Amino acid sequence: MKKNTVKLFLAAILFVGIFQLSTVTDVSAKSISDLQKEKSQVNEQHKDVKSDLDKAKDRLNEIKQKQKNTQNEINKLDEKASNTQSQIDKKINELKEKENQINTKQSEIDKLNGEINELETKISELQAEIKQLKEEIEQLKAEIKEQEASIEKREDLLKNRLRSIQKNGGDIQYLEVILGSKNFGDFINRTVAVNKIMEQDNQILETHIQEKKDLENNKKQVEKNKTKVEENKVQVEKDKETVTAQRDKVASEKKQLESQKASLAAEKTKLDNLFVQLEDQLGMKDTQMAKLDKQEEEAHNHQMSLAEKEENLRSQKAAFDKLIAQQKEEERRKKEEQQSNSNKPNSSGSSNSGSGSGDTQIEQTSSSSGFIRPSAGYLSSGFGHRSCSGCSSFHPGVDLAQGGIVPIKAAASGIVSRSYYSNSYGHVVFISHIINGQKYTTVYAHMRNRAVSTGQTVSQGQYLGNMGNTGQSFGQHLHFEIHRGGWNASKSNAVNPANFGIR
Ligand SMILES: [Zn+2]
Repeated sequence: MKKNTVKLFLAAILFVGIFQLSTVTDVSAKSISDLQKEKSQVNEQHKDVKSDLDKAKDRLNEIKQKQKNTQNEINKLDEKASNTQSQIDKKINELKEKENQINTKQSEIDKLNGEINELETKISELQAEIKQLKEEIEQLKAEIKEQEASIEKREDLLKNRLRSIQKNGGDIQYLEVILGSKNFGDFINRTVAVNKIMEQDNQILETHIQEKKDLENNKKQVEKNKTKVEENKVQVEKDKETVTAQRDKVASEKKQLESQKASLAAEKTKLDNLFVQLEDQLGMKDTQMAKLDKQEEEAHNHQMSLAEKEENLRSQKAAFDKLIAQQKEEERRKKEEQQSNSNKPNSSGSSNSGSGSGDTQIEQTSSSSGFIRPSAGYLSSGFGHRSCSGCSSFHPGVDLAQGGIVPIKAAASGIVSRSYYSNSYGHVVFISHIINGQKYTTVYAHMRNRAVSTGQTVSQGQYLGNMGNTGQSFGQHLHFEIHRGGWNASKSNAVNPANFGIR
């Protein structure tokens, strides 16, 4: 009994085993060929993706190297410009010093010229004085001549009178004349006459003495004038010598001034050249900056590998298809509800208002602005053509920047068409939306982390992750794009988020 039971049991196991084995062999035959096919497909795709990824990495490294080079060039130009600037400052100081020297020289020359003028006035004054003195001398000489003649004449007269007085015994003659009077009347007359004669004689004598004194004075004056003339002449000679010396000095100062002016002009030319040099250097710096801006822009414009682009488009299509299907399903359910509502009394309509009011809510937000601001932060870069000096590029979104942990929210409800790490975008989330029948895709780039995954349905305002600085980013910010009609590689559908109140 026991043996039979064991045999039966073994037979059963064997039967089941054979049955199972045949099934497994059958299934695995199919799967293995499929799997191999899939595996080779996956390998092929993997190779493509890897080569695209390598290309993207090379491109990124290339851009980074270019930026490094450009930055080095800018630093060099900066250094050159600052050297030139300090040379300019030095030259300006030199110019100021030269100008001061010129001013000093000029005032020295002015002072000397003033002194020369004074001396020349003095000389002409002295010369006029000499002339006057000479005239005086001439006049005095004439006067002396007259006086000498008149003195001589009077001396002759006096000599005669003295002789007659001596001959007739002096005053006795007067007495004889008086005593010889015949009567008192005659006596009076004779006394008066004698007195008159005596008076006249006295006057003649006095005049004679006075004239001789005058003559002496005039002679002295002539001598004095002659001395003065000599003195003046000496002074004039001296002054003339001083004037000549001063003029020589002025000439030499003027010569120095001319040379200083020439050197000033030379320094000014040097300064002008330095300014031109500086402008060139600054211009070159601007060009390099523009180059750097353009490179940054290039990097910022989110260069993607072909595989990445294709995957994005494929995922986006899937998301839109899903959304369309969802909407159709929604419409179908609505119609059903409406039919059942119209069949039923009005009171039961409220039971279906749950899903209905949900849709209404979405439509309301959609019609008001469609999108909400995806994060806090200031607008560090706007949408559209960026103009840097010497370059222009297109920025397909807006940059919102803020430090610290800044949450990012879905701008509208939709389906996450992709959530992945991109070499250019860094951690990035693509969300596809259908708003009032219009397709949109929003892009959230350079995130620190991602809280949603591809295919996930999200509602407006739902947390997607935090603001970051991943991928080709230069400082923490959210790069946000809106594409009307869906994202494409050329970003031709990008619209300005400011039109939706995101600014
Ligand atoms: Zn940006």
